[in-house]
Order: sequence, then structure tokens, then C-alpha cells
Amino acid sequence: MELHYENTNQVTPDLDTKLCEKYPLIMAERHLGAMQTAMCWGFEHSDGWYNLLDNAMYLIQSHIDMETRRGVEVEQVVFEQVKEKFGVLTIYHRGGDAYTNGVLRMAQQMSRCTCEECGDKGYPTTSGWIRTLCVKHHKVACIAYNGQESYNE
Ligand SMILES: [Zn+2]
Repeated sequence: MELHYENTNQVTPDLDTKLCEKYPLIMAERHLGAMQTAMCWGFEHSDGWYNLLDNAMYLIQSHIDMETRRGVEVEQVVFEQVKEKFGVLTIYHRGGDAYTNGVLRMAQQMSRCTCEECGDKGYPTTSGWIRTLCVKHHKVACIAYNGQESYNE
């Protein structure tokens, strides 16, 4: 597999579109203007966290739908910003309840050990810009930043 490192800090458009199509209510602000929401910038991290988000959004939306069907009111979860911050998946949102907050905390916690680039087991980088990367992507990132391969276990 060819490794390449692009620090675009943006989920590829196809995956962004997929999440918008699967979870339109959570993504209600995706195409609003920058004056209204930070969600207009899309997912500000790389593709490795896609599955984390997909699963978290699935659990959140099915929970809300199920509660609504049995007459319990839960405010719809709407994402306001999703980004990488200090190597961690960070989601700003409104709505939800204790259950959906728990799902989001679990997703955030899992991002601490999930490579932001490819989704493999990741570790926090020990120097420079803190990110969570697998061993391979840490090497690629070191080459991109320092011009040499160095990896500290
Ligand atoms: Zn990786």
C-alpha cells in the first residue's frame, strides 16, 4: 500500500457527502454559511476517524428515533463543528441526552488510539504538532516535517 501524507486536515469530499446523506438531521448545518456555523468547513480532520464518526452518528440517530417513537422527547443532535484538536476528535454540538453524550465521549476517547490518517491503532506523536498516528503514518509525517524518518516509541 502506498503511503502518502497530505496534511489537508479535511475528510475527503466523498466521505463527507456520505455522512451528510446518512445522517441529514445531525448534519443539518453542513451547508449553512460561515456566519452561522463552523460546520460549513466540513470535517476538519483526516479520513482515519471516519468509522468512529459513522458509528457514533448511527448510534445517536437510532437512539433519538427510537425515543421519539416511544414518545420520549430528545432534542435532535446537530453537529456545529467537528475537528482534530491536540490529536483528539473534537465535536461541538447541540441537542441530545445523557446517552448521546456518552456515545460522543466514547468516540472521542477512541480517537486517542486511532490513527487519524488510516484508522489503524494510533499513538499520540511525541514531538511537534500533537496528532494521533499509527507507526507508519508517524514516519511519513516525520519525513514531511523534518525531511527525515524518525520515530520515537
Ligand atoms: Zn495510519
